[in-house]
Amino acid sequence: MWRRRRALVLALALALGLAGRAPTAVGIATGVEHTPWERRRVAVHVTRGCEQRLRRLADERAPFTGAAVYQEEVLRVSYSAEPGTVAAIFGPGDSAKAGRRNAAATAVGLYDPLSPVRVRLVEHGATAAPLDGEWVRRAIGRAAAERHAAFCAPHTAPLAAAERTTGFRIVNGENDGLPGLVIDRYGGTFVLKLYAGAWLPWVSAAVRALEHACAPDLERTVLLLSRELAQLPAAARLGLTHGDVLSGLPLPASGEVAFEENGLSFGCEPVVGQKTGFFLDQRDNRALVRALATRAPGARVLNVFSYTGGFSLYAADGGASHVTSIDASRAAIDAVERNWARNAHRPAVAAATHVGIAADAFEAMDGLWREKREFELVVVDPPSFAQRERHVDAALAAYAKLARAAVMLAAPGGLVLLASCSAKVAPDAFHAAVEAAARQAGRPLEVEARLGHACDHPVRAAGATPYLKATLARVR
Ligand code: SAH
Repeated sequence: MWRRRRALVLALALALGLAGRAPTAVGIATGVEHTPWERRRVAVHVTRGCEQRLRRLADERAPFTGAAVYQEEVLRVSYSAEPGTVAAIFGPGDSAKAGRRNAAATAVGLYDPLSPVRVRLVEHGATAAPLDGEWVRRAIGRAAAERHAAFCAPHTAPLAAAERTTGFRIVNGENDGLPGLVIDRYGGTFVLKLYAGAWLPWVSAAVRALEHACAPDLERTVLLLSRELAQLPAAARLGLTHGDVLSGLPLPASGEVAFEENGLSFGCEPVVGQKTGFFLDQRDNRALVRALATRAPGARVLNVFSYTGGFSLYAADGGASHVTSIDASRAAIDAVERNWARNAHRPAVAAATHVGIAADAFEAMDGLWREKREFELVVVDPPSFAQRERHVDAALAAYAKLARAAVMLAAPGGLVLLASCSAKVAPDAFHAAVEAAARQAGRPLEVEARLGHACDHPVRAAGATPYLKATLARVR
């Protein structure tokens, strides 16, 4: 009955020339697109090896999210399905079973014919609840409740005025059961960033789920597409473009939205900025920098790869007398200045001086060393240096070079905070490389702490490892 009505709606829409027209609000608002869970699920037959791997995960009761079926593991599919169609995984010999509508699959996930990651798995097949709008609503609801308990719950109320945080990650991809989807909140702006084409037809379900979970706080939702996705015709077909406001108020003309982090005010530009506009994963390490500055009043602080000045502002707020920020991007250095101005009402920030240097970090650090400058705290938080396995050695060499430059700029007894966000670089290899480099420079590190991501970036999916690692060390 329902199917017949959809067919009628489709016929009517075609007659009126509506089909194919750019959707209005949330991508698939034409009423003629089938939501992914209304489409017939696609049976994906995988190699014996892949099936065994998935069965092992099930036997170990390991989470399925984070696991995937890769292009080369697919033997055949039941039909040529669109991105985002619900996929049911079967072994090579399961043909008769797979044909049946509700046949128990080894696993279920989202199909992505345009990506080498052919299926992003979500659940074990035998126990799986259907992947539909209710699934998205439950997963986003659960993730939002967890983050709101951490950042907005009544027990944090006494902190509210001085220490409020309204910028945090709500959905951390597969670690929240939604592989390929990230949702970050900046004040009333909720940013959905898609890293997988499979999510394109699920966007309206995700927005509705977010509205359901966060209604009172939600001013607007903004869509971001990863660089690869923005090129896909599938995105254009659904009327989805990087930077679309999917619901609520338009973005301010500047593109900048405001939020608070541990009481400090920041602006970020989700559409043109890096990641979703801010590096929320470093929040706890920024708070640590403020605490360190509090314990060393008057410290001089160098923030290398500063981006929009997160670490710089925390250092000033803790009591640093001076902060130098270095970033290759002039726009980033300008944003540090704007963020500095946003916090000028805070006495410690007002009392500190700031110099922004828009230049290559390696050259600028060398220049500071030649000028015999030194700092009680040097923060070095570079971009990812290794996108692929083959870049790991070059990345380790770059981390070593930065560590050498950092220790040479540290005052006697000063601190360095060295970070790496390269997922391909293992924590032990990073720590070994920077420690060896400092030793060779004659300023060995006395490691005080090894650091990772903030709690709104949980790592709990199958096979997931923390990508962010940092060392805090004293240099004699
Ligand atoms: N520490 C920041 C995040 C750093 S992101 C924070 O907490 O917000 C990495 C930054 O490095 C980007 O802003 C990018 O513009 C900058 N960058 C990349 N290559 C650079 C280079 N060679 N020299 C200086 N800055 C560079």
